[in-house]
Amino acid sequence: MAKINRFAEMLPEITEWRRDLHQNPELLFDCHRTAGVVADKLKAFGVDEIVTGLGRTGVVGVIKGKSTASGKVIGLRADMDALPIHETTGAEHASRVDGKMHACGHDGHTAMLLGAAKYLAETRNFDGTVVVIFQPAEEGGGGGKEMVDEGMMERFGIQEVYGMHNMPTLPVGAFAIRPGPLMAAADQFDIFVEGKGGHAAMPHNAIDTTLIASHVVVALQSIVSRNTDPLVNVVITITSFETESNAYNVIPQRVHLRGTCRTLTPESRAMAEAAIKRIAENTAAAYGGTARLEYEHGYPVTSNHPDQTDFAISVAREVAGEAAVITDVEPVMGGEDFSYMLEARPGAFIFAGNGDTAMLHHPDYDFNDDLIPAGCSYWAKLTETRMPA
Ligand code: MN
Repeated sequence: MAKINRFAEMLPEITEWRRDLHQNPELLFDCHRTAGVVADKLKAFGVDEIVTGLGRTGVVGVIKGKSTASGKVIGLRADMDALPIHETTGAEHASRVDGKMHACGHDGHTAMLLGAAKYLAETRNFDGTVVVIFQPAEEGGGGGKEMVDEGMMERFGIQEVYGMHNMPTLPVGAFAIRPGPLMAAADQFDIFVEGKGGHAAMPHNAIDTTLIASHVVVALQSIVSRNTDPLVNVVITITSFETESNAYNVIPQRVHLRGTCRTLTPESRAMAEAAIKRIAENTAAAYGGTARLEYEHGYPVTSNHPDQTDFAISVAREVAGEAAVITDVEPVMGGEDFSYMLEARPGAFIFAGNGDTAMLHHPDYDFNDDLIPAGCSYWAKLTETRMPA
């Protein structure tokens, strides 16, 4: 509890940072002001090394413990970007930029990691090195992936990596996590059906793409019902059915289908992609047409590593008390860019309660500043426990 109290003392200061970030939201990789604020603060805290411009506008700070003899290095990650949403909270600290707002609480994530960095740079009560990672472009764009691809893990010698996201409806001070898949792989695909256009009254002279595409849509439903283990979660949704012609008397030459595929394991993801291709191509062939699949991989599954999850649970219990930590939370079918860091290094992603607020990505959403002490304490405790002085 001592640490929570320390951060309770720092709460007004960290809240001020959070609200400043909230008033100045930036999208995707365009996090120039935010990155500048982060780098300036890390410098003021006396952080040992600061690197900017990673993943275009990402910032990394290195804080060495009293000793680094253990050779341990852990990464703590926050995201910095906002969303293209018009804020309707009416809060005093509401966005000053029309059409942009921090509707996912990344302002709070950044402020909490800065708070922890300030404390850790002051106290250095650990044996090892902590690397604080501030990434742009979590909301599409893959800023975390760019940082990993640029060799961030190797450059800073990061051995384990941890992430945190606020969660509305979960009470403030509570945490929720699970080992294994926590958030979904979110892929999107296009299916281009081609037949032979013609007169609607002479279908025997045409190859009817509307009929073919309809059969494709129906046949794709069998992937979840027939190809997927009943205990495994897969979502395949066709979201758009676009015929080339909208006339009443024309069989269109082409139909364009769009859809999304959400999965929680690499195996089900690969299975679903292969099945979509097989079913689309062969269904079209059965009717004399063709179908071409363009499948775009989005963020991979955010999958928590078992040992690091157990450790994260023990830290969360120390911060919040045993009863306030859910250890088998249901996975969420949204995607998360931290998944790339978890592919590169073992680690764990945890949800921290944002209380009874509007849901993430809603124009009335606001990060709950009451969560700051628990969130900062989690980071500090995690560092000091994983790398004891
Ligand atoms: Mn988010």
